Amino acid sequence: MYYVSKQMEIAGSHRLELPYESKCRQLHGHNWIVTVHCKAKELNAEGMVVDFKHIKDKIHGYLDHGNFNELLPFNPTAENIARWICEQVEHCYRVDIEESRNNHVTYIKDEE
Ligand SMILES: [Zn+2]
Repeated sequence: MYYVSKQMEIAGSHRLELPYESKCRQLHGHNWIVTVHCKAKELNAEGMVVDFKHIKDKIHGYLDHGNFNELLPFNPTAENIARWICEQVEHCYRVDIEESRNNHVTYIKDEE
């Protein structure tokens, strides 16, 4: 099995839909540190699990400097963002997001 990971820093803004008082209901920004993990038993024709550039184009290219509430069709919590990223990238099985220095989220896809 081959394992690769790609880390990206994605700047953006969001506000969270929450049924309780929280500063997070206000529009605010983060520099999310996103690590996308992929694996494959066999390499593709180019000798890769997945091209790092394709991950960057698809995720960073779409989200960076964006308003996540406009770009994503769900409440843009780090947990939901991690799952969505995992669904976008071929061979992805895990996504880690550092939303701020002390706040981390990991999404791991169930084994099929
Ligand atoms: Zn936030």
